[in-house]
Parts: sequence; structure tokens; C-alpha cells
Amino acid sequence: MLNVRKAQKQLNILVVGCGLGGLAAAYALGRAGHSITVIESSTSIGEVGAGIQIGPNLSRILIRWGLEQRLKSVSERDKPTWFTFHRYDTGEVIGMSRLEGKLDRDHGAPWHVVHRADLYEMLLSKASPYMNLRMNSRVTSLNFDDTSRPSLTLQTGEVISADLIVGADGINSVVRSHVTGQTKIPLSVPTGDLAYRVVLPTHTFTDDPQLRFLVEEPRIRCWIGPGRHIVGYCIRNRTEYNLVLVKPGDGHSYSWTAEGDLKEMRNGFNEWDPCVQKLLSKADSVLESRLLICKPLETWIHGSGRVVLLGDSCHPMLPYRAQGSAMAIEDAAVLGNLFSRISDTSQITPLLDAYESLRHARVTATQEASARNRTVYHLPDGLEQIQRDAAMKIAMEEEISNYERSKDGYSPSITDQNDNPNAWSDKSKNKEQFDYDPDNAVEEWWALNRDRIRLPEKIHYKL
Ligand SMILES: Cc1cc2nc3c(=O)[nH]c(=O)nc-3n(C[C@H](O)[C@H](O)[C@H](O)COP(=O)(O)OP(=O)(O)OC[C@H]3O[C@@H](n4cnc5c(N)ncnc54)[C@H](O)[C@@H]3O)c2cc1C
Repeated sequence: MLNVRKAQKQLNILVVGCGLGGLAAAYALGRAGHSITVIESSTSIGEVGAGIQIGPNLSRILIRWGLEQRLKSVSERDKPTWFTFHRYDTGEVIGMSRLEGKLDRDHGAPWHVVHRADLYEMLLSKASPYMNLRMNSRVTSLNFDDTSRPSLTLQTGEVISADLIVGADGINSVVRSHVTGQTKIPLSVPTGDLAYRVVLPTHTFTDDPQLRFLVEEPRIRCWIGPGRHIVGYCIRNRTEYNLVLVKPGDGHSYSWTAEGDLKEMRNGFNEWDPCVQKLLSKADSVLESRLLICKPLETWIHGSGRVVLLGDSCHPMLPYRAQGSAMAIEDAAVLGNLFSRISDTSQITPLLDAYESLRHARVTATQEASARNRTVYHLPDGLEQIQRDAAMKIAMEEEISNYERSKDGYSPSITDQNDNPNAWSDKSKNKEQFDYDPDNAVEEWWALNRDRIRLPEKIHYKL
């Protein structure tokens, strides 16, 4: 069983970056029996205030990692019942997809929405027993003079070597520039979209007829309009309301923690649903980040075969399918499972090749799905928008009818919409995204390819 399998060969592994992906990698590889040091440039650990959606593919991993009770304790009252689309100016409901109950049934795991800091804390608690964490340590370069023991250099000049280096250092990864050999060309490019993140206390919502509905029933709500959209949901058991607002712009920073300009944000949405404007009037601070992406990389593995990338460092994506962290944590789960099978350092490179072959196509497809949602959400008013709304409404009517009938035991999954602009009602897209199980993927791969990884049998001579 994975839970008890420890690698026969213990490796010294350096993980660069203590974000959600780095922590998940530290846990998955540490649990597999390896010695882990995590190098983080920040002086303090944690995540900035904002929400994060945990779809079934991610909740499956967290539950398997023993975090089900923690997930419930921080978000049970937030569990979204529906994903609801609103028209941007009137607030009219144009699409609905059932989440609670339906996803558990269709994909075997629930949907949660949590505060990022709570998810971070959960992963930190799992990883801490397995890792030596070095804060305030910025990696400036990597060195490959000894190809079997790459090293990294910190800003202080200190050099640390390891059997394997995992670059989980995010969108502007230093490790990536060594893997691709392109230290000069910026690989991350602005998408032209700017994201604002706001978290509001909800204690005044219940007395406000315009906002009460937001906390009475926890839904993920998405207002879509020309060139922009807003996603909102309750977090921390409905005590806070999380908003992500996207509009065109380059912004002032790509950082996760940069303060944004409240006036600029409000002006960007001043013709939107009055409910949205009321929400924005309550904000007293906002975080702003320029959204960057990079084209799929040819490889995530350095030519030495001893350095590999994970998470946003190799596949940043638009957050419009809410899958960036999920992909980073899936990466970590696959890597941990593969490296629990290692018995000799000669297997490092083939196992990294296996990791890349198992992950590359999936994250590329998820990047594309996220970009597709941008096109769908941001349509200008006109014929295409009318067709989009009409298709979304057909799916919504079916979802509502199925939901009503499911109360009498009806199991409606075969009638769900395929190829709908509302990706959350699209059965084939959901299946592809949410059924994925990293441990099953590795087991299947191992069953077919184990001979490529195994050492040749030792020859025993009879005396
Ligand atoms: C607005 C928005 C909403 C989102 N919503 C969702 C969602 O609902 N669901 C979801 O799954 N995903 C979501 N995402 C995506 C998700 O946040 C990212 O994909 C995820 O955080 C990436 O994790 P990571 O660990 O790869 O990188 P990061 O979180 O960027 O972590 C990188 C770490 O490396 C450190 N570091 C960087 N350089 C160095 C260096 N040279 N030396 C040492 N340390 C270094 C950094 O300080 C940081 O701690 C959203 C993203 C945005 C922008």
C-alpha cells in the first residue's frame, strides 16, 4: 500500500519553494522515505487572504492524505450547492450546475471552497514532520558540475547539493530557467488580464436584503460580461465572502501579495449588477495580480536528469477552471508515488521521465480548458453571447429538473449536457477533469512499465 511503502533507496531532495505545490511535494516525497529540505525565499510562511476552490480531483487527494476532517471543520457550511452564472449587468441567472451531492455521486469526491491560508496550514501540518524548512533563503542559481549531484546557490553564497532538486518556485521560477536553458528570455507572459482579490466579513450581509442571499445558501457565483468576470463564494463557514474580479489590464505587479487600488477596481465594474457594486463598496483593501501564463514547456526535466519542475513553475494557467493548485498537488502526488518505488539512484531519471509522461498532457489540457473559459466568459454582448446564454439555459433547465428528480432517487447522469459553454455542466469535460486519480495513474503506469525502471536481477554465484 502507498501509505506504508518506503523507498528502498533514500534520496536527499531539495524542494525550491514552500507554496502549496512545494509543501505537497515535501509531504509526498518525505512520506515515501526521502530526506527533504525545502528552500523558501520569503521571511514568513503562509498564504495571503483569498479563497480557493477544491474540486473533486483535489479533494480526493486531500481526503486520502487524511485531511477530510480538517477540510470539513474549516468549510463544511460553505460547501457549494450550485455553480451559478449571472449576467453581468442585471444579475439575471443564465446558468446553473449542481455541485453538492451530484459531484460526489459522479466523481466520487466533494467540492469544497476554503481560505487559502487554511489549505496551506493543512498541507504544512502534513509536511512538517518530513521536512527541514529553510526560510529567508533565495535560490539564485543552479550548478551541474557534478551531474549526479546538482547543487543550488543561495543569495548568501551558500551552496547546497542533493540527489534531486524539485523546482516548485512558482510562475517566475529560477529553476525553470536552468531547465529550459533560457535565462534571459522571460518565459511567463502577461495574458492581458488583471485579477483583484477581496475578502469581506459577512456579519452585515444577513441584515442587508441585497446581499442576504449570498450567505443564506452557499453557491459559487460567477458574473460574466464583456472582457471581465467575477467569482464569489463564502469561506470559513460563511463568516467571510471571497471575491475574485478579472478585468483587462497589465496591473502594477505579478506578485500574489501586492495591494491594489480600490478606486480602480470599483471603476472597472461600475456598470455591473448593483449587488456586485454593493459588495465592492464594502471592501477596504484589495490584492492585485497581473495574470501570467507560459506556453507548455517541451520538458520539465533538466538534461542532467536530476532536476525537475512542478506546479506553476512549469505550467502556470489562468485561474478560470480553478485548477492551478490542484495541478500542482496532483504533480506532487504522482512524484511521491513514483519515488516510493526507487531502489537505486540510477532510477532517478527514468522515474522523472515517467512523472513527465504522466503529467504533461493532463496539465496542458487543463491550461487549454482554463483559456477556453476565458473566451466563453468574456464574450461581448451580441450574437455569440446570445447563443452562449441560450445553451447555458438549456443545461440549467436540465440540471434543475435532474436535481428535483434526484430527490426521488432518480440518477440522471446519462442525460447531462456535453459540449456546453458552461463547463461545469459538461459531463465529458467534468469526467476528464475530476475523475483523475494520481495514484491510479501511477499504478497503471507501473504495471505496464516496471521492467524499464527495475534494476537488472543480481547474479548470484553458487560457491
Ligand atoms: C486569482 C487566482 C485564483 C486562483 N484560484 C484557484 C482555485 O480556486 N483553485 C486552484 O486550484 N488554483 C487556483 N489558483 C492557482 C493557484 O493559486 C496556483 O496555481 C498555485 O498557488 C501554484 O502553487 P505553486 O506552489 O506551484 O507556486 P506558488 O504558490 O507561487 O509558490 C512558489 C513559492 O516559491 C517561492 N520562491 C519563488 N522563487 C524562489 C527562489 N528563487 N528561491 C526560493 N523560493 C522561491 C515563493 O516565495 C513561493 O512561496 C488561482 C490563482 C489566481 C491568480
